[in-house]
Amino acid sequence: MFCLKESTRLKSCWLKRESNEISKTIRGQFFSCKLRFNWIVFMSNLFALRDLNKIILHCSATEEGRDVKVDTIRSWHLKRGWDDIGYHYCLYADGSIHRGRDIDKSGAHTKGENHNSIGVCYIGGLKDGKPADTMTVKQELAFMELVFSLRTTFGWLSVHGHNEYSSKACPSFVVSEKYKWINTK
Ligand SMILES: [Zn+2]
Repeated sequence: MFCLKESTRLKSCWLKRESNEISKTIRGQFFSCKLRFNWIVFMSNLFALRDLNKIILHCSATEEGRDVKVDTIRSWHLKRGWDDIGYHYCLYADGSIHRGRDIDKSGAHTKGENHNSIGVCYIGGLKDGKPADTMTVKQELAFMELVFSLRTTFGWLSVHGHNEYSSKACPSFVVSEKYKWINTK
């Protein structure tokens, strides 16, 4: 669930990112006075968070109303030989937000774009077996909450749909039209 615990976790990611930026400064000024008190920050660069610049929305490509959990999707992806679920967050029809893969790690959701993106998957995307925008109002609100929380933590992140980078229908609608306003700074 997206709750205080998740906010705290994101805050720690932000702190790690801040530390990383400071450590880059240290590397640039290796012999400067900053070195005297920032060895810990310098070492934290070993565990640097990757650079993020976008959020990519997916659907689970499951029938509207079907209850699919993170663990189910994880089991599908493990069967493909991956080491974890490909997405970082899943949005259930009831509006709850669930963690998938650790955000520090590249996802496995959009070919060529995984290294600098956060993969979000809403449960649904099919109606009578055909691609359809089945997002519930609660899912849409949850998506907004997640986008703004992630932007608060990581700075500006543009929002896209999987189908902008692939011939697939996923997430079953055009994100740049539905969420045009959200990409306006
Ligand atoms: Zn997708």
